Amino acid sequence: MISENLVQVRENIVRACERVGRNPDEVLLVAVSKTKPVSMLKEAFDAGCRDFGENKVQEIQDKYPAMPGEARWHMIGHLQRNKVKYIIDKATLIHSVDSLRLAREISMEAVKRQIRADILLEVNIAGETSKFGLLPEDTPGLAREISLLPAIRIQGLMTVAPLAANPEDNRQYFARLRQLSVDIGRKNIDNVNMNVLSMGMTGDYMVAVEEGATIVRVGTGIFGERQYPVK
Ligand SMILES: *Cc1c(COP(=O)(O)O)cnc(C)c1O
Repeated sequence: MISENLVQVRENIVRACERVGRNPDEVLLVAVSKTKPVSMLKEAFDAGCRDFGENKVQEIQDKYPAMPGEARWHMIGHLQRNKVKYIIDKATLIHSVDSLRLAREISMEAVKRQIRADILLEVNIAGETSKFGLLPEDTPGLAREISLLPAIRIQGLMTVAPLAANPEDNRQYFARLRQLSVDIGRKNIDNVNMNVLSMGMTGDYMVAVEEGATIVRVGTGIFGERQYPVK
């Protein structure tokens, strides 16, 4: 099932690229494997998937040693400062940086290990009160401040769009995030790249690709519905 789903999702990405004249190689599919067992991640790995998205530090810690070393880990959930040290050497890309305090912690831990941490700034592009993320107007200023920290590099922007019944409803937000990344890119801030736009999930990734996503984060569309334990 997982390999068939992957074929379908990849095909949808190719089609979306064709509709707008993009090269599908520009779009990275991150398989969001939160709550799913390692056996399912391995199935996806065997079907060619190398990039996995998790939103909990604990899950990355648990799954990391159980998966082949070629697997790459994307931290896509809210990250607490006191947990940075557990994933700093495991995450390929931290998508969810939304404060200077968090960026400072990441920078400090990266310096300690003599590595470079690649991050995205998470933007609350629709201004939902329930969501993490920076306000669009605060983003360029924070990018500038983070750019001065050692061993951390901003690679672009990420957003979690609203839950929408119709994916077309989110097109405006994806377009807005892309515009924000263009605006920040034009400022030519040293040490800040705007190459990555992480946007689009199962419900709306095709629209996100049409609007310029370079990473889509798809969970349900690959692994099926998530079952959370009843508490
Ligand atoms: C869970 C999650 C996803 C994937 O959601 P699906 O709707 O299952 O594709 C993507 N991004 C983030 C930040 C998530 O937490």
